[in-house]
Amino acid sequence: MAYTLREKALPRHHARHPSLPYQITFAVVALGLLGLALFCTFTYWAMLRVDANAAAREKTLISRAIDERIDTVRREQQKVTVGDDVFYLTMLGDTAWMTENIGAWMYSSYGHEQGYVLDDRNTVIYAMRQGETVSPARFDEVSGRILPLVRRVRQLASEDAAAGNLGLGDVMTIDGRPSIVTVKPIVPGVDPETSVPGDAFLHVAVKHVDNAFFASLGERYLVANVRFRPRETMLDGQNAVPIAGRSAWHLGYVAWDRERPGLQLIQEAAPGLATALLVVATLVALLLQRIRRAAAQVHESENRAHHLAYHDALTGLPNRSLLRSHLERSLNTWSDADPVLALHYIDLDRFKNVNDTLGHPAGDELIRAVARRLCAIVGENDMVARLGGDEFAIVQVRVTGRADVERLADAVMRSMTQPFDLLGNQVFVGASAGIAIASETASERADLSRKADIALYEAKGAGKGQYCVFYPELDDAVHEKQAIERDLRVALTDDRGLHLVYQPIYALDKQTILGAEALVRWDHPVRGLLSPALFVPVAEERGLIQQLGSWVLREACETVKTLDLPWVAVNVSAIQFRDPTFTRQVLDLLHELDLDPTRLQLEITEGLLLDLTDEVREALAALRLAGIKIALDDFGTGYSSLQYLHRCVVDKIKIDRSFVQRLRHSREGDAIVRAILDLAHGLDLTVTAEGVETVEQHKALTEFGCSELQGFLLSKPLEVRTLQAKIIISQPANRYVPSSEPAQYREIA
Ligand code: C2E
Ligand code: MG
Ligand code: MG
Repeated sequence: MAYTLREKALPRHHARHPSLPYQITFAVVALGLLGLALFCTFTYWAMLRVDANAAAREKTLISRAIDERIDTVRREQQKVTVGDDVFYLTMLGDTAWMTENIGAWMYSSYGHEQGYVLDDRNTVIYAMRQGETVSPARFDEVSGRILPLVRRVRQLASEDAAAGNLGLGDVMTIDGRPSIVTVKPIVPGVDPETSVPGDAFLHVAVKHVDNAFFASLGERYLVANVRFRPRETMLDGQNAVPIAGRSAWHLGYVAWDRERPGLQLIQEAAPGLATALLVVATLVALLLQRIRRAAAQVHESENRAHHLAYHDALTGLPNRSLLRSHLERSLNTWSDADPVLALHYIDLDRFKNVNDTLGHPAGDELIRAVARRLCAIVGENDMVARLGGDEFAIVQVRVTGRADVERLADAVMRSMTQPFDLLGNQVFVGASAGIAIASETASERADLSRKADIALYEAKGAGKGQYCVFYPELDDAVHEKQAIERDLRVALTDDRGLHLVYQPIYALDKQTILGAEALVRWDHPVRGLLSPALFVPVAEERGLIQQLGSWVLREACETVKTLDLPWVAVNVSAIQFRDPTFTRQVLDLLHELDLDPTRLQLEITEGLLLDLTDEVREALAALRLAGIKIALDDFGTGYSSLQYLHRCVVDKIKIDRSFVQRLRHSREGDAIVRAILDLAHGLDLTVTAEGVETVEQHKALTEFGCSELQGFLLSKPLEVRTLQAKIIISQPANRYVPSSEPAQYREIA
């Protein structure tokens, strides 16, 4: 069965995420994608730039080529328009000469498709088409396009003869085809300026720009598929330059197959780039995987360490630290409107017995079994924690009333009283519990656990196997204890206020004082005379009992030396007895005071014998060997007393007052005392009856054969001087006379 706390009850910081590797992965992938996007954008931009540059260069080249072509036609025209013979013979209208030297020659030499000679009034005096002389009237077919250029040449020549004589060229559509048309004045060879500016005869050359021309352009400038495209057939986005004349806008386009060096470069580089990218991406992915694996390992060991720090290794339950933070968190978010929260502290009653008698493996098994049982009892949202040793805690949530708390506490008590099966042994353990409820008593963690602690202490004090729910008066008791502790410390340090009274113990004759029991008294400066029943338990609880016990022991021993008293009995707390140096302290004190050990008796309680360890047994043996008598005080009030008597560790038993009080009241009362006495006699033990208050009790005890009596009937506890007087007056014959021999001390190992 899994009995660790459900995750949702854990503090928030327990739910840890391996966020770092995710962040790294995210960052690397994001950076990678960004880099890739930037790279692609830049490459695309560079490609466009390279392509645009190439296109611009191509456009410039093609445009310039057309201009050059016009110049070429003009240069060719120059050959027939400059010279005295042409100047005079055209003026004379010599058609035969013009046919041979202008028309046919231009056609055969340069392929000019048309040629015209115009006189000073723009009358056509010669016309040629495809090398043949034709009727001048044919000029009318093209005059509409050409005459504006003619007029501009005349205009230019009249303004600047030199410039005008060079003529002008243009591009225009002739016969539906793009053509270069040049117009140039015919000038004499020797002195061209002799012609009247603006009135010269003109030569018109028409050269179609044909596909051969475009093909040659392509060859020359390494541009593919150069061709003419009429305006209507031009598509958007095609690579082309418009062919525009001066007189007519835009005849069409020179188009070509665009060269795209950028795209080409990318196409060629693409496989290489893709491979490189793939390699880089693979490397990054591998690296990321390694980082993630390493991070996961770190995270896992961190989680393990964290779990160890907040859980108990034996049971796997949350430990004290986790309980503390869980409580703190629950209380911080808790409000008055919420259901109540209760803190249960649980302490096993007989864990030490199990450990001592069955060994630690059985003790461990018991702890695990207890953990399992507690986890099975609590609600789904409650937390079970182990605080250490045999201490457990439950944080009970969603409590709607005190009844809920008591129900769980009852269940815990019931479950703990069920026997445990430990390594083949059936063991009865039992537990005590202290409970503090958040709403009723405290809402601060420290306060709540303090109160649960107090309640647990109260439960233990009230007898085992019980639980106690904290109530405010308990706090008062705690404060009271604190005040007593503080004042007792002062009293012990200053040796003020504490003193001993002595209650004599008589023989059956009610006259002979056999000895006396020393009883401590405290005259508190404010509270007055305090009973040891009030402050001795506080001294035991707060670690003052050793100091108090030593003081009592010394005081009693010193006093008995000054008295004619056979012996003094001193009460010794179990805590004092468990101190390994106790025996040595007692013997040293006797030695120091030179007091016969037989004059000291020590009264122990059954509680000490309940946990009869080897050390305690040895201490008892050593003290008895030295001659000190051990009395078992309040006999019958503790646990299975008879068992201890059988082990012969004491010399005397003191029947508790409660048994003496029942004498002559019932048959059982008498029977018990008689049985104790019979048993003690059988074991050769002396018996003292405590709390003898009536004559009837005295009679009964005499009848049953009790040898020593103590009680108000005989004497109340007395101040030293009164006791001494009583010894001397009441029983002069029986006075104790110390022997002349020095006290015998038997050294112990
Ligand atoms: P105890 O050792 O059983 O002492 C006997 C108690 O019974 C004394 O109470 C005594 O005054 C009282 N008593 C005696 N005869 C009668 C009687 O006839 N009737 C009634 N009702 N009571 C009688 P006291 O002095 O109050 O002491 C109470 C307990 O405190 C003692 O019980 C003892 O256990 C403890 N105590 C006293 N002094 C010391 C001490 O110095 N050291 C330690 N460790 N415990 C001490
Ligand atoms: Mg006593
Ligand atoms: Mg007693």
